[in-house]
Amino acid sequence: MPDKSTSSKASAVERPQDAPTVAAPEKPATPLKIYPIVKYGDPILEKPGAPVKKFDAALEKLVEDMFASMYAAQGVGLAAPQIGLGLRLTVIDVTAGKNPEAKIVLANPEIIHAEGEVREEEGCLSIPGFRGYVVRPQFVTVKAQNAKGESFEIRGENLLARAFCHEIDHLNGILFIQHLGMLKRDLIKRKIKKLKKQGEW
Ligand SMILES: [Zn+2]
Repeated sequence: MPDKSTSSKASAVERPQDAPTVAAPEKPATPLKIYPIVKYGDPILEKPGAPVKKFDAALEKLVEDMFASMYAAQGVGLAAPQIGLGLRLTVIDVTAGKNPEAKIVLANPEIIHAEGEVREEEGCLSIPGFRGYVVRPQFVTVKAQNAKGESFEIRGENLLARAFCHEIDHLNGILFIQHLGMLKRDLIKRKIKKLKKQGEW
């Protein structure tokens, strides 16, 4: 099975092979906090998040910290449960920091339309070193709120559509391995168990 060091696919949802090491493009006055990423096995990853209700300065700071944490982990998407917060909040940037305009904040997102099917390899920052093929819609329209609480709709295609689905799954306590066949999923779970025993997870 390819892991992050051997795979040549650039289509991982959270860990594209060609993601450059980049810092967040903007530098706010307050220092950014880099959160450690919660790994598979932590129950928070399998619990649905609570709706975001307070759109204040603390939330805007959290969003910037989430972007910084995502870039530090060389990811293209990060959901609040992955930093230990049971909130319906996720950040996405499929350009991995190359284009500041590509930064997407989704609070309380909902998929309102999905179309087509694409089977592609996927990975997750919370399940490092493991990948698997997951069928996702080719086009996805999401309704969400931004960090200020304003409602908007956004449409994504291919990798962005996949990122929307993967991250919104996180907010519902669902991990990509749940979309894999039972054999593949059990193999990954067994390998993680072994890594845990060895103190490497
Ligand atoms: Zn993930």
